[in-house]
Amino acid sequence: MTSSPRTLPDRRSLWAATAPELPRTEPLSEAISTDVAIIGGGFTGISAALHLSQQGAKTVLLEAEQIGYGGSGRNVGLVNAGLWLKPSMVLQRLGQSYGQRLISLLSEAPRLVFNLIEQHAIDCEAERAGTLHCAPDRRGEADLRQRASEWLALGAPVRLLGGEETRTLTGSTLYRCSLLDPRAGTIQPLAYVRGLARAAVAAGASVFTGSRAKGWRKVGAHWQIETEHGSVRAPWIIVATGAYTLGLQPKIRGEQIHLPYFNFATDPLPEELRRTVLPGRQGIWDTRTVLSSFRLDRAGRLIVGSVGSLAGSHQAVHRAWARRVTRKAFPQLGSVELTYAWDGSIDMTSDYVPRLHRFDPHILSISGYNGRGIGPGTIFGRELARYVSGAIGADELPLPFSEPHGVRSRALRESLYRFGSLALHWAG
Ligand SMILES: Cc1cc2nc3c(=O)[nH]c(=O)nc-3n(C[C@H](O)[C@H](O)[C@H](O)COP(=O)(O)OP(=O)(O)OC[C@H]3O[C@@H](n4cnc5c(N)ncnc54)[C@H](O)[C@@H]3O)c2cc1C
Repeated sequence: MTSSPRTLPDRRSLWAATAPELPRTEPLSEAISTDVAIIGGGFTGISAALHLSQQGAKTVLLEAEQIGYGGSGRNVGLVNAGLWLKPSMVLQRLGQSYGQRLISLLSEAPRLVFNLIEQHAIDCEAERAGTLHCAPDRRGEADLRQRASEWLALGAPVRLLGGEETRTLTGSTLYRCSLLDPRAGTIQPLAYVRGLARAAVAAGASVFTGSRAKGWRKVGAHWQIETEHGSVRAPWIIVATGAYTLGLQPKIRGEQIHLPYFNFATDPLPEELRRTVLPGRQGIWDTRTVLSSFRLDRAGRLIVGSVGSLAGSHQAVHRAWARRVTRKAFPQLGSVELTYAWDGSIDMTSDYVPRLHRFDPHILSISGYNGRGIGPGTIFGRELARYVSGAIGADELPLPFSEPHGVRSRALRESLYRFGSLALHWAG
């Protein structure tokens, strides 16, 4: 195999700058056959490839760019339990049977992620100190109280912290209270997905990068996927292309509302300041609609994120805001330089529930994690692998199969995210 020289397109990404090298992969250049073909080299596709290979299935994964090119290499790295939605909303939208199964599987999602990291010795800055959902105002406090009571009723070990304890753990006076979830933690996400890919290859999966799947067609009893220089024939296809779906089924894109999210990162903070900024080592985010997130990396760089795209002139507005909000949250830092900057698209759905489709009995697709993809992507990859290998039936999957439905006013809603966050950050 030859190495793929491509890196994330945004070379100012902290994750691209600090992740271990890309696994050695090459574009597909011949016609091959396999048991399962997977499209998409993010958490979902790689987790499916790893678990299928461990179950003895021949697996081929096609990635258009490089491993972690999509949301998996761009995110904040908060490994949270559950979905964005409160448990009561999950039950309301999915019903008792699927709702309870999804909640209980996703409660365990951080444990699966951290276990895989340990089992495969993945060097990805794993930190299991929990995460803090922080409330800056009364409305946020009410939201967290509700979340806390729902999770506690389910037996989850979450804790609602008052102002004083929140200040001690965050080093910031911005928040009235916070919800500590000790199941959660942080990782270097690009390092995680690259490490998972290495583990999948070691387990026998064939991974091809720079290999965009152009579509599929039936050939005899199997499906054939064409790439520019090769093809894969398989009885099963798993489509795991998330917000970065290129070509393929337009219906996948049609049901997503893309929310842009950016991150900036400082250089490593001096030791004496580092002790006062997020001293509990939790990653944090707040309850605002246009939320902000903060976390540290292993070297003590502070990462600040929020809704918005860094395209063109937008970057200057978001950068100025990020410097202001960082100073407000951690005045002890004074004026900070933001050395790294990167952004990505989050695949939101109209009801905040992910979408599982079956385009044919043997072509499955999963996307729409609504900004909660590290745990869910790893879990759904594993569950689809179990389904394809016959270990579980359709009625034991975490979600029912659904038909893709286009979202009304999608373009308008995407513009609102983009320009609404710009206006807020310009003014705020
Ligand atoms: C800025 C940002 C911050 C986030 N923060 C968090 C967070 O803190 N915690 C959390 O849990 N989640 C977070 N998320 C969400 C999470 O990153 C995603 O839900 C997750 O990465 C989705 O994984 P995936 O494997 O389904 O898709 P992706 O990681 O997007 O991977 C899809 C892959 O498919 C490839 N592809 C597309 N079309 C084709 C084709 N035709 N042929 C071959 N390959 C193709 C793409 O190149 C891409 O690499 C964040 C997302 C973003 C963008």
